[in-house]
Amino acid sequence: MKYVFLGAPGVGKGTQALTLAKELGLAHISTGEMLRAAVEEGSELGRQAKGIMDAGQLIPDELMIALIEKRIQADDCGRGCILDGFPRTVAQAEALDKLLDARGEKLGGVVFFVAPRDELVTRLSHRRAHEGRADDTVEVQEKRLKVYEEQTAPLVDYYEKIGLLVRVDAVGNIGEVYSRLREAVGARAGGK
Ligand code: AMP
Repeated sequence: MKYVFLGAPGVGKGTQALTLAKELGLAHISTGEMLRAAVEEGSELGRQAKGIMDAGQLIPDELMIALIEKRIQADDCGRGCILDGFPRTVAQAEALDKLLDARGEKLGGVVFFVAPRDELVTRLSHRRAHEGRADDTVEVQEKRLKVYEEQTAPLVDYYEKIGLLVRVDAVGNIGEVYSRLREAVGARAGGK
């Protein structure tokens, strides 16, 4: 089973993805983490990505699609995976459909984590104080929220139209949100 986790920066989907992936034995594929690892290694991709990430912008679709194409073929995706941070544009979503089609696969569901903007800003400033990510300054966070609204939010419609979207209220503590997620994913899996 392959799932896409969708939501604004700061909504907490990475934490939820990690826990669910562990529980269901799925691979957790975070494109943000893959890119940060590439930057750390100083690879060609890392060199191309660093400035773009630090500015809160999106990496070009072609690069991301190539990265995901390779990643979903890895052995650990055999039981399925959670795509956390991909797709982030309609072009990426269309490419993912094609990639899965070619493999005779389908997405099991798209979980959309919902929280009001002021909650996201509060969580991001908390993360800023604790994690020290290079793209977690106030300005870059604002930019990331804007880029999300302009380029990623249209995916909610995209997946809703094809009946794949499940909404999960992301306000509350990690355990509360996880119970809602578990229920939403269970309902989808059971409904098939
Ligand atoms: P994240 O950890 O998911 O918040 O991602 C951190 C940064 O990595 C984003 O702000 C983008 O610059 C880049 N990034 C991650 N995933 C993607 C993607 N699917 N498309 C374009 N850029 C991405």
